[in-house]
Amino acid sequence: MLLCKMCLILKETEKFTVDKRSKRGYRYECNLCRNKRRKILYNEFKETPRYNIHLEIGRARNQIYYRKNKQKIGEEHKLYQNENKDKILLYLRKWRKERLLTDPAFKMRCMASQRVWRSLKKQFKVKGCSVWSKLPYTPQQLKEHLEKQFEEWMNWDNYRFLHFV
Ligand SMILES: [Zn+2]
Repeated sequence: MLLCKMCLILKETEKFTVDKRSKRGYRYECNLCRNKRRKILYNEFKETPRYNIHLEIGRARNQIYYRKNKQKIGEEHKLYQNENKDKILLYLRKWRKERLLTDPAFKMRCMASQRVWRSLKKQFKVKGCSVWSKLPYTPQQLKEHLEKQFEEWMNWDNYRFLHFV
């Protein structure tokens, strides 16, 4: 007899699936509970293309884990960042340099964004703090404002080739 940790009922061992990774050698929940859980999962993801189901389930699980442990993860992350500042900076610099050399689109994007920020900073005389805090509009509004100046053939995929003033 084994206890099902889902429905908390003692059931015959054969009502459980073998699980070599668990301590007692069987899954923590009985087959009935397992099927129920699977059905719920299936219903939730039945719109998702078959090849994506495991990916989506994994993602959902990660999200749930993240939400439950947000603070802990955040603290660990901060601690790691503090202890490895130089390493991370070096890595980012290297990554950027390599990408600038190998990815022309990335280079254009960087240049365009630099140009935009420089002109915005000049206009609003911002130094050393987030430009957004000084701007009279939100990122969304800025995007819409720029879109208004687009010609018909322009879109956000080719905007990096444009020159902002
Ligand atoms: Zn059960």
